[in-house]
Formats: sequence, C-alpha cells, structure tokens
Amino acid sequence: MSKLVKNAKGQTLVTLIPGDGIGPECVEAAKKIIDAAGVAIEWEVRHAGESVFKQGIPSGVPQETIDSIKKTRCVLKGPLGTPIGFGEKSANVTLRKLFETYANIRPVRELPGVPTPYSGRGIDLVVVRENVEDLYAGIEHMQTPGVAQCLKLISRKGCEKIVRMAFEFARSEGRKSVACATKSNIMKMTEGTLKRTFEEIAKEYPEIESWHVIIDNACHQLVKKPEQFDVIVTTNMNGDIMSDLTSALIGGLGFAPSANLGSEAAIFEAVHGSAPKYAGKNVINPTAVIGSAVLMLRHLGELAASQAIENALIVTMEDGKFRTGDVVGYESGKACSTTDYTDAIISNLGRASVKYKVRAVKPLVMPTVSTALDTVKPKSRRVLGLDVFIESAELPTVLGPVVEGLLEGSPLKLKMMSNRGTQVYPDKGTLIDCIDQHRCRLLLRDPQAELSDEQIFAVLPKLATRLKWAHLEKLQEFDGQPAYTKAQGED
Ligand code: NAP
Repeated sequence: MSKLVKNAKGQTLVTLIPGDGIGPECVEAAKKIIDAAGVAIEWEVRHAGESVFKQGIPSGVPQETIDSIKKTRCVLKGPLGTPIGFGEKSANVTLRKLFETYANIRPVRELPGVPTPYSGRGIDLVVVRENVEDLYAGIEHMQTPGVAQCLKLISRKGCEKIVRMAFEFARSEGRKSVACATKSNIMKMTEGTLKRTFEEIAKEYPEIESWHVIIDNACHQLVKKPEQFDVIVTTNMNGDIMSDLTSALIGGLGFAPSANLGSEAAIFEAVHGSAPKYAGKNVINPTAVIGSAVLMLRHLGELAASQAIENALIVTMEDGKFRTGDVVGYESGKACSTTDYTDAIISNLGRASVKYKVRAVKPLVMPTVSTALDTVKPKSRRVLGLDVFIESAELPTVLGPVVEGLLEGSPLKLKMMSNRGTQVYPDKGTLIDCIDQHRCRLLLRDPQAELSDEQIFAVLPKLATRLKWAHLEKLQEFDGQPAYTKAQGED
C-alpha cells in the first residue's frame, strides 16, 4: 500500500525533519533505534518550521523539503513550532495538507511502568482524525474590523475517505468497533455529513460494530470509561482536542505517536509539540516519536523491525530502570536522560514482554475513493435566495426597515435578519447583544422561481447605496431539500 522509493543500495528513502524545540532530540532517538534494528534506510535530512520562518519563508516549508517528500513519499518528523494567534500558518498543517495526508491515526495504549489513574483498565484505542478539512483548512476573514470568520468546510468525499480509513485501520489491527464522534446535533450539515457518511459506509463492514456518539459525550465517556472505545473517527478539530485527552489517559503527550496517511505520502510524528522549555536539556521522553517510527516501519512493510522496536520499548518501560522525568518527576532524582532511555531500548532489542503483547497487524488496505471532484450529483437544484452579510452599527429595528426599503421593486424580499445566527428582525422580543455584522436573508418573492446571477448582481448595487456588504452566500435547494440551515428562532 505504501509507495516505497529505494536507492541503488536497496535502502528505502525517508525524509527526516528534525523540527523545533525538543524535536531534534526525539527524532535522533528514533533514528538511532531504527538504525540499530538494522532497517536499511537512507535519511534525507530536510527542514521546516521555526528556522525556516526565520529565513523569511512564510509557509515554513522550503521547496527543497517539498521536493524531498515528493521523491521519498515518507517522512519522519519532529514537532514544529508555530506562532500562536498571529502571523504565519502552522508548517505542520501545511505539510499535512500539501501532501493530502487526510488521515491522522493516533493510537494510545496502557503502558507498563507508567502509572496513571486508569492503570489496570486496559485502555487501547485509536483516534482516527480527519486531517485536511474542517476549521483547520484555515480559511479565515475579518468580516468587519471586529468580527472574525473561519469557514468549516467538510466534504462528502473527505468524510468517505476518513470513514473508510477508520474501518480499514480497524480491520488491519483486528479491532472490534468504530465509534463516530461528531457535533451533528448542532452543526447538522458539516458534522452531520460525517455522521451520515459513517452510517452509510459502516454497512460495508458488518463484522465491525459501529455507533455514533456526540463529541462532548465522547469526551465525558473517555474520561469515565475509556476502555469502552476501540477506534474513534472524528472531524479535524474534534480529533485534535480529543487526541490530547486520550494521550493524557495513558501517561501524557510523551507517549502518544501518530501517523498522517494519504494515498500519495505519509508523515509520522508525535502528537506533542516542540515543548520549548525542555529543548536541548536531554530530559524529554522520546517514546511518542519512537512510537511514530514504529508506525512508519509498519507502513514501509518492515513488520519484523517495527515489532522488535515496539517490544524493546515495552520491555524497557516494564523493567522500569530507565524512566524519563515526565513519568517520575524531573526533580525526583530518579529520572534518566533521553539518551540513556534510548540506549536502554537499543539494548533491549530482541526481548519481548510476557505480559504486554504487541498487536499482530495485517497490512493496511488504503481506501479507494472516486477521484472525481464532484462525488455528489443531485438530480435537481435551484437557487432561491441569498444571505447577504452586512456591516452596520445600527440596531436591527432600524436596519430591517432600511433593507426592506432598498429591496422595493426587486424580486427579493427580506425574510429575516440574524445576528451571530439568531433572528433579530422581525423582532421577537428577545434579548440579544448585537454586534456590527448582520445576516440579511433574502428570498425570492415568487417561491417557485429561480434566482439568476443577473438578479443577484442587480440587487447588490441597490443594497450598497446605503449598506456595506462583506459576504454573500447563495441559498440553494438540492433535490428539493434546503441546502442551508435556519437561524435560531427563524420560523
Ligand atoms: P507541547 O509542545 O506538546 O507541550 C505541552 C506539554 O506537554 C509540555 O510542556 C510537557 O508537559 C508535555 N510534553 C510534550 N512533549 C513531551 C515529551 N516528549 N516528553 C515529556 N513531556 C512532553 O504543546 P505546546 O506547548 O502547546 O506547543 C509548543 C509548540 O509546539 C507550539 O508552537 C505548537 O504550535 C507546536 N505544536 C506542534 C505540533 C506538531 O509539530 N505536530 C503539535 C502540537 C503543537 P509538562 O509541562 O507538564 O512537563
């Protein structure tokens, strides 16, 4: 299933990105162990993240790194630091999106020698997170100087890919159930698309139990009774947050590996970030990146080496002679260094735990999904109105009649105005603290007609004589069903 690229010596090419903060220490540990296990890899060291931002490359990912990944199709990377709340985009997200690694696989398992409040309960679950859509598409705009917008784009095709991946991953690991966690009770179209797609595709995997759970309850259940979960498939942001939670259940981010998988390339990295306060101190726990390397070796078909490394890791933890500061406390005097921990794992290659068995896995079958851009084709469609988002500091009781006046003589009428999704005009006597961005829902006066682009282009200049408009959204019907949601309080 993986697109392996070998050099003349028969070694597999892998791009190695050391990353920022603690990244280089973690990646060096993983590389040293892989090399000690005798896997024939030629590492192409390339860079991304903070050092690249500092060179003035705004994407954080230089062309030579892109070229290397395009060649090797496989990456082992350390975490990359991202400026928070301003400036450049995350180089991590950029890498995942540039190579369409649409599935983020984040397994966690109870580990020996890592005491947690859940020890003994046998947590062993995988979060399968959609990786390239949703709010992390990062399509943001300031609609007014004080109102920000982020588009949550979820496609049927993207949902099909991630759902199939979750079931295929469950099959490859012999897992029994897949839960789909969404917020479809509130976001019926975006999150609802994942739920509906899941329910359709689950029928193709009758041997695997499938169920839907609302994401907030999923988090509650994960804290209360995590052992009930096996595989959880979810949308991008939900999965990001949930997988930090699941990491904490088994001892923290130091133990949580991940694989970003796509049809063309795969990127293996820890769930954790660059933890800059520990950078260069030789104290951090490299297990998460080593676990990611185990996933990478599986992907490369190096099953024996991946099992040997996983076994050595487990034996090292079970022996408990070498434990890092995140487990025993950095100031306890009992913590070992990152390099001593790494060397202990290497010395344990060839050993296996009697109690903690490494999971027997079959090769993952990568899902095949239509490559057509439009995978959903309705039999009929119609445009019946327009949502116009306007900037105005006037109260809805003043603004509503103004909009109605501007629409006189037009084929469109004002159905209602909403402020952050709640109807404010016509006034229903509610108590809403309005902001200066309003949505005007305009519908055709003739409910059977079709709204043409010419009519849209004609109405905008009329509105613009008095109002600042920021954003337009067509109101459509597909197969007779409205393709938009109502505002809160809209009848
Ligand atoms: P973080 O780097 O994951 O660190 C949060 C905390 O987790 C640390 O302070 C530490 O906890 C613990 N931790 C993380 N990795 C550890 C390890 N290997 N060993 C032991 N403890 C570990 O999260 P952050 O501080 O929010 O993010 C820092 C930077 O990383 C940001 O720029 C962020 O954007 C970036 N980031 C990158 C990735 C990625 O590259 N995939 C992912 C997430 C974040 P204690 O403080 O309790 O010891």
